Amino acid sequence: MALRSVWLQELTWEDVADYLKDNDIAILPVGSTEQHGPAGPLGVDSYAAIALAEDAAKETGVLVAPPLWYGDSPHHLEFPGTISLRTETLVAVVKDVIRSLAHHGFKKIIVINGHKGSNNPGLITACRSLHEYELPDVFLALADPMYLAKGIAHIKDAVEHHAGELEISHVWYKHPHLIKPEKLPSNQVDLTTIMSEFTNNDLLGKSGDTIEVFWNSREQKAFAPNGSFSDSSKASPEKGKTYHEYMVKNLVKFIEWLRINNGPVGGM
Ligand SMILES: [Zn+2]
Repeated sequence: MALRSVWLQELTWEDVADYLKDNDIAILPVGSTEQHGPAGPLGVDSYAAIALAEDAAKETGVLVAPPLWYGDSPHHLEFPGTISLRTETLVAVVKDVIRSLAHHGFKKIIVINGHKGSNNPGLITACRSLHEYELPDVFLALADPMYLAKGIAHIKDAVEHHAGELEISHVWYKHPHLIKPEKLPSNQVDLTTIMSEFTNNDLLGKSGDTIEVFWNSREQKAFAPNGSFSDSSKASPEKGKTYHEYMVKNLVKFIEWLRINNGPVGGM
């Protein structure tokens, strides 16, 4: 069956019922609405998750559930426009979305997180808990640029953290009118001074020995007054395209594997 759209919200219930006769995979994109410095829109993480989900789905013919535009972003609340879910709320919302999909017969659900480390505690908690206690027969996976794009990180010039060169490039490639190139910051917040040498300064770099330090919205506004942690002056739509296509290729490979495998060996 050829889908009229990969987006579930653009189909009828009968279309979804038809899809489920021969298919059981769904993608759930999760992003955030949070400030991304002076050059990037508040939706950067959501646009990233949506673009990856949509293009991987188009190549593989799987369905995408409506995106979640909100994430776990309390540390950005000092900047106007940021809207944050508490971790507990994110867990509850994601669990209910997955429960609904599973109820209809989706057996393999891939969450694509555009918000990197900040959403992961909630997303991992929701998926692990559902799969252990409620939905042992539903395969759940989490894909995240922070882990999915290590192999292409060499194309960037600066260390990548919040509002970094590659995430700005990604949105620039997909939505050119949403980036303000004249406002791209060239300063880099030195997190190793602020949070010790054991902090992970580059989310896409090789991680050495680390100790997690937590910061709140007041502290963040003080150490990153323009909202960006990262030098994104070398961002470009071309880098965004390379970064995007690399991750889509990985997602397509994973979905093709998932079509013929049912999950962890012996688990299903
Ligand atoms: Zn982001």
